[in-house]
Amino acid sequence: MKRVGFFQSIQLKFVLIYVLLILFAMQIIGVYFVKELEEKLLTNFKTSLQQRVNLLEYNLREEMLKERTEETQTLEQDIRRILDDFTAPDVSEVRVIDHHSRITGTSDPNRQGIIGQRITDIAVKRTLSFGAEEDKMYIDQQSNKRIWVYTSPIISNREVIGAVYLIGKVETVYGQMDQINEILFSATALALVMTAVLGVLLARTITRPISDMRRQAVALGKGNFSRKVKVYGQDEIGELAITFNNLTKRLQEAQATTEGERRKLSSVLSYMTDGVIATDRKGRVILINEPAAKLLNVSRETVISQSITNLLGLEEEYTFDDLLNEQDSVILDYSNGDQPYILRANFSVIQKETGFVNGLITVLHDITEQEKIEMDRREFVANVSHELRTPLTTMRSYLEALAEGAWQDADIAPHFLDVTQTETERMIRLVNDLLQLSKFDSRDYQLTKKDVDFTEFFDKIIDRFEMTKSQEVAFKRKLPRYPIYVEIDADKLTQVLDNIISNALKYSPQGGQITFKVEEKSDKIEVSVRDQGMGIPKKNLERIFERFYRVDRARTRKLGGTGLGLAIAKEMITAHGGHIWATSAEGKGTTIFFTLPYELSEEDDWS
Ligand code: ATP
Ligand code: MG
Repeated sequence: MKRVGFFQSIQLKFVLIYVLLILFAMQIIGVYFVKELEEKLLTNFKTSLQQRVNLLEYNLREEMLKERTEETQTLEQDIRRILDDFTAPDVSEVRVIDHHSRITGTSDPNRQGIIGQRITDIAVKRTLSFGAEEDKMYIDQQSNKRIWVYTSPIISNREVIGAVYLIGKVETVYGQMDQINEILFSATALALVMTAVLGVLLARTITRPISDMRRQAVALGKGNFSRKVKVYGQDEIGELAITFNNLTKRLQEAQATTEGERRKLSSVLSYMTDGVIATDRKGRVILINEPAAKLLNVSRETVISQSITNLLGLEEEYTFDDLLNEQDSVILDYSNGDQPYILRANFSVIQKETGFVNGLITVLHDITEQEKIEMDRREFVANVSHELRTPLTTMRSYLEALAEGAWQDADIAPHFLDVTQTETERMIRLVNDLLQLSKFDSRDYQLTKKDVDFTEFFDKIIDRFEMTKSQEVAFKRKLPRYPIYVEIDADKLTQVLDNIISNALKYSPQGGQITFKVEEKSDKIEVSVRDQGMGIPKKNLERIFERFYRVDRARTRKLGGTGLGLAIAKEMITAHGGHIWATSAEGKGTTIFFTLPYELSEEDDWS
């Protein structure tokens, strides 16, 4: 958290505002107060002096109008006496002037020399001429102090008979003013200091909850919801703090809900088997779940922000806008060679109510299995129709020949009838095989299992083949000399062994050997039939158990095979809980193996 320095704090701003307000108020008060006071003091000063001058005038007029004789004192002496009586601390000098502008007396004992001189002051002259009072304030050049000069006429019978010229020490008034200013100034300073101190304290009551909230907000930003703002009072800030706390709670709840939703969504996404990819509005991947990454065989980290068309390998056929408008699902064929791998992609647009496209959700399904089943089904139908058509066309041509007159030919007719009979049998066999397979497919079969001595059972089947075989093929038996009891459905296993052995005979060369073997393993027996025929190419080994699969179609059809024998054998062995497979070396022979579950019983141990 960045700390707020004192110089940027609200506290300082508050204090500054207080101080400036006080300063401003004091300034205005000061200016008015000082001005008023100064005026008042000056007026007082002047009127008090004027009143005294009036009294002086009266005395002087009396003296000036008095009849003077030899014995009586001269006017100057009288004036001198009056002026001596006239003492005032505020007055520096008073002069008396007669109507000829001559100075007839001064109160300053040191300047008695000026008596008799004419005064040249214009104010005095005006006073003498017009009988008006004059006053003037100026700064004395010598003492550098303010003085107030007042001239007042002495009037008798409306005639100016002289004037009083007074110099007042107005500086004292200004001295007083200075003192008052000083007091005012120090009072202001004191007030400012106290305001500043009080301001800091007062501002703290406001700023503390605010800075509390600020800290809280910073903590909130980091996801810490545990803190609470202290509520200091019921004022606006207190209410703000309460609201702030409520807001924090709400935010916490909202956050928890969002987090919960997010978790739900992400677990839904990761546990669903379909692949889900979300993009932004420009088609860049922003989310891909694990199944999607697996289906596309990519790592989730590397595809983020890759374009979706590129990721799905659709950049040549589709643009992102095409995908936005794609109503149907798109089939993605990633098959390579004979390994089919097909995905189906469905697209849905994330749109706001305004129609603004926010992104695209792609759902991927693996439909390889489905497609394979579909392909198998198609192939199966094609195979069945093909297998039926061949004998039918053969039969038709033979029957046509018979109908056209061959039936009369005693040499050809039996042969033709023989062929049609073989083909009919072949078709019956085929249909029976198909019926059997379809029973396995619909699980509509029942194994009637019995404990059978497999050694004896196998032995008898081999005997049967040995008696009926038409070729020069040697049979070699590697069977145990003791009975092995296994639980089997004897009819079904006979069918399996019949097919395996007849295959071995079919593909054995003249003078070849077929080896029959039964081996006991811990929990099963392993049966094998080995021939010395031309073998099966390695790449086809797995497929011989598929329906209708024949390694060499033309040749095997001649041998009467339909390619269903091993498919049925496989179903049967699987139904018994066993396993069937083949090994082969081309040109040297083939071995067909199968296993059957087998439990070593205690009787065997004792026997
Ligand atoms: P069906 O058994 O229905 O009469 P089939 O023998 O041709 O016809 P399967 O028994 O299923 O069909 O065998 C499938 C194919 O596997 C055969 O067509 C043959 O190509 C091959 N095959 C089976 N056994 C052998 C073998 N012992 N040697 C060589 N090829 C074999
Ligand atoms: Mg066969």
